Amino acid sequence: MPLPIVAIIGRPNVGKSTFVNRLAGDQQAIVYDKPGITRDRTYRPSFWQDREFQVVDTGGLVFDDDTEFLPLIRQQAMAALTEASAAIFVVDGQMGLTAGDREIADWLRAQSVPVLLAVNKCESIEQGAIQAAEFWQLGLGEPYPVSGIHGNGTGELLDELITHLPPVDELPEIEEIKVAIIGRPNVGKSSLLNALTGEKRAIVSSVSGTTRDAIDTVVERNGTTYRLIDTAGIRRKKNVEYGAEFFSINRAFKAIRRADVVLFVLDVLDGVTEQDLKLAGRIIEEGKATIIILNKWDAVEKDSHTIYEYKQKVMSRLYFMEWAELLFTSALTGKRVDKILDLVDTAISEYRRRVTTSVINEVLEEAVGWHSPPTNRQGKQGKIYYGTQVRSEPPTITLFVNDPKRFTDNYRRYIDRQFREQLGFKGTPVRLVWRGKKVREVERGSANRATKV
Ligand code: GDP
Ligand code: GDP
Repeated sequence: MPLPIVAIIGRPNVGKSTFVNRLAGDQQAIVYDKPGITRDRTYRPSFWQDREFQVVDTGGLVFDDDTEFLPLIRQQAMAALTEASAAIFVVDGQMGLTAGDREIADWLRAQSVPVLLAVNKCESIEQGAIQAAEFWQLGLGEPYPVSGIHGNGTGELLDELITHLPPVDELPEIEEIKVAIIGRPNVGKSSLLNALTGEKRAIVSSVSGTTRDAIDTVVERNGTTYRLIDTAGIRRKKNVEYGAEFFSINRAFKAIRRADVVLFVLDVLDGVTEQDLKLAGRIIEEGKATIIILNKWDAVEKDSHTIYEYKQKVMSRLYFMEWAELLFTSALTGKRVDKILDLVDTAISEYRRRVTTSVINEVLEEAVGWHSPPTNRQGKQGKIYYGTQVRSEPPTITLFVNDPKRFTDNYRRYIDRQFREQLGFKGTPVRLVWRGKKVREVERGSANRATKV
């Protein structure tokens, strides 16, 4: 049974082999005698907590020099990555960020493998946090200060690493999109589910969810698997006499948590009620991709303006979800029900999308050019150094600024809007995190002192 592979990537001399020795101890390299497995890569077994894996040192990676063996080594690194479950990109914290690191980072961001960033040679914890901060710019998420020689910092890195490894004795699961159908009672959730899974699409299986809170229905369309999470309706708390219904708002909350995409179903005849707002608030808190479905459209008397008027009315209540697509459906007649999964496809790809650091900084530069950050009463102006997308699902962008307090709500909304206008992200919330560089270092410093006590 093969163990998951972790590829160690980085420029020459950053400390990759020292780091591999640290991870693998004196365990011997695994010797393969199967044909087709290249001998040039050594696989060394390692473990962390109860998880086993193997590390492969890919050799120093250089992009801008094609002398002698370099193309071969590069090819090796690329091959190693295709079979890896995760990669650790090692950089040299004492030397600082180099052009070579940027090239490797650009290449790594285009791969589908999760990448952890190890900032090596950070023996000093306080100094290391500062050295590591610079590498946020690579757009690969949090830089971990480590020392391959002394071993500090490797624990945190490995804790994160094992969350990216596939379960050892399970085959990789087919990727599925989890879609929760959420709404008050009687808005038409069950009817929509029936319409969605009707004759046109084969139900692969109907299985109960991991909890008894919802019934999952798995459907397949154009090679994509959707797990539809259906909840029972939600009643107002004062209807406690209905017994089990009382708890169903918690079921809806749990279903939202499990979902990638929420179908937020409203009864178009009722408009947006207080309970709907409560559900909407939770969807926002959980940061899920969302499609707003206005059901029972067949029951509305219409003229040419009706759809526009309804849209306006609904979105003035749900203004904080203005990024979500709105769809008028009828579960009864089937009208536009076939559009739902199309919108799910778009929303999920935006929810999972990653934008490069350079694009984010282009948007920021442009935005600041049109409208510079506010200046406070002491004459101090807000300054945005750079931004980088630190995660997806939902897209989360960290902005490094001199002092977050200098940015008013108004200005933050302006930046929010600029990202929306330039980058789209239709159907998914986008989170912006405003971070002062100094604050971060102080936080780290005090956390370290606390652990020393
Ligand atoms: P590789 O070429 O990336 O495999 O790098 P090596 O593991 O051979 O290390 C290159 C140099 O960096 C050697 O001189 C190591 O002693 C040194 N080095 C490796 N890890 C560390 C570390 O954590 N701290 C310091 N200060 N030096 C290190
Ligand atoms: P749930 O409690 O949200 O699952 O709602 P149901 O699917 O059970 O539907 C509640 C009621 O609304 C039923 O009487 C349905 O027939 C009716 N209903 C559902 N969808 C539509 C629709 O698109 N148009 C109309 N006119 N009635 C609908």
